[in-house]
Amino acid sequence: MRPAGELTQVLEMLKRHTAVAPVPTEPLAMILWENIGYLIDDDRRRSLFDAFAAEIGISAPAILAADDATLLPLATRGGMRPEVRVRRWRDIAALVRDRCGGDLDGALRALPLAKARALLRAFPMIGGPGGDKILLFSGIAPTPSLESNGLRVLGRLGFFAEQPSYAASYKDALAVLATAGLRACEELVDAHQLLREHGKTLCRRGEPLCMACPLSETCPRAPVSAL
Ligand code: SF4
Repeated sequence: MRPAGELTQVLEMLKRHTAVAPVPTEPLAMILWENIGYLIDDDRRRSLFDAFAAEIGISAPAILAADDATLLPLATRGGMRPEVRVRRWRDIAALVRDRCGGDLDGALRALPLAKARALLRAFPMIGGPGGDKILLFSGIAPTPSLESNGLRVLGRLGFFAEQPSYAASYKDALAVLATAGLRACEELVDAHQLLREHGKTLCRRGEPLCMACPLSETCPRAPVSAL
């Protein structure tokens, strides 16, 4: 396997070649970002999230005060089953009100890590990895986090042996991040975002574009013609 320490060079190379769009980093905003639509791309997610922020507001009281006539048209723009999304938005706001005294960020910062993770798992569409991403991006805890594109890139680059089980691969990929010398939240956020973007644009699931990849010289999966 490739030494985890080489990840820093990979990330430096990606930084020079990859544009990453900003995303929300405040916990409630991140949860709403995940729940804003169904199977939508990043541009549409951003547009819907901005519309939600402008028309409703990113706060629990604002969401709880909004009526169906305001929420449903926004949810409809996010794809199938809009009524489920409206219910989830209200569930999210009610959880923030009832379990966090209206301040999710403050509640997470006051809790030990295990309890903060458990609190985040109570929110719709936020599992263990999603919760770790929120803790990381909001600067609450340097919990290594990846999504499926980044996981694929790390595997193809030879940092761990890809396994049939996603959960097993995810565990191995997080171990790479944990031993790569990335300590600060900012470094781990960069790794998450750069690897994700690379997986979406060049190291694509179906057909990696190795000929255009800045990492091809050191990638064991690159065809000889890409070297
Ligand atoms: S060379 Fe190909 S397989 Fe390797 S990281 Fe680049 S796009 Fe992915």
